[in-house]
Amino acid sequence: MPEAAGRYDIVGDVHGCLDELLSLLERLGYRWNGQDLTPPQGRTLVFVGDLVDRGPKVAEVVTLVRRGVETGVALSVRGNHDDRLARALAGEAVKPSRLLDTSLAQLERLPAADVAVIRDFLAALPARLELDGGRLLVVHAGERADLSGDARAEFNVNGATTGRVTEDGLKERFDWVTPYTGAALVVYGHTPVLRAEQVGQTLDLDTGCVFGGQLTTLRYPEMELVSVPSLGAYATNRHWQLLTQRVGAGA
Ligand code: MN
Repeated sequence: MPEAAGRYDIVGDVHGCLDELLSLLERLGYRWNGQDLTPPQGRTLVFVGDLVDRGPKVAEVVTLVRRGVETGVALSVRGNHDDRLARALAGEAVKPSRLLDTSLAQLERLPAADVAVIRDFLAALPARLELDGGRLLVVHAGERADLSGDARAEFNVNGATTGRVTEDGLKERFDWVTPYTGAALVVYGHTPVLRAEQVGQTLDLDTGCVFGGQLTTLRYPEMELVSVPSLGAYATNRHWQLLTQRVGAGA
C-alpha cells in the first residue's frame, strides 16, 4: 500500500487548475478517466493542499483527488483554503469570504448531495502526513516542532502572521523555515515562489499555478522536480505581483 511503497509524486497548490494538473499527471505517467486514477507502478500521488479557490475547476480537482484517496493511490493534507471552504459549506461564517467566491459560484451549479461530498472530504483531510518512516513530512503551510497537538495542526494548515506589516504593505508571515532544524524533509505549499528550491530541510512546491506560474511536483525519493506551465492567470494577488515585478526588474 502507499506507505510501504515509499515513492511519491508530491504536487503543489492546485487551486482548481484541473487542466494543468492533468497535463502534469500525464507527464508523470498517471491516468485519470474521470472516475479512476491509475498511478505508475509503486507510486503514490500526494497533494500539499489548497485544492480549491481562485481557479476555474474546483469541483473537478476535488473529485480527482477524492477518488485517488478513496482507492488508495493518492493522499492529501488540508490547506487553509480547503479548511475555510469546508467550514463555509458547513454554514460557518468565515473571513475573508471573498476568497471563497470562485469556489462557491462553481459549487452552486452542483446538486446539494455532491457539494456535501466535497465538504466532508475537505473537512476530513489530515493536517499533516508523515511518510517514508518519518523522513518526509508533507504539510500545507509549515511545521513548528515547538508546538504540539491542535496548535501544531493549526500551524500546519494555516501558518501564522506576525502581526507586523512588511515594507510592501503585506501581512508578514511567521518564518518557520529559518529556525527549522528537524531531520524530516518538510514539503509544503502556501507561499507562492517563482521556483521550487530546497532551503535546508524544507521545499516549497507552490509555484503559483493559479496566478499564471507553474504547477510543480517533487518526485521523491528521486528529488526531481517536474513542472508544467500555467495555462492562464486565473487570479492575482499583491504577493505574486511583487514577485514577478522583481524578476522583470532584474532584482
Ligand atoms: Mn495556496
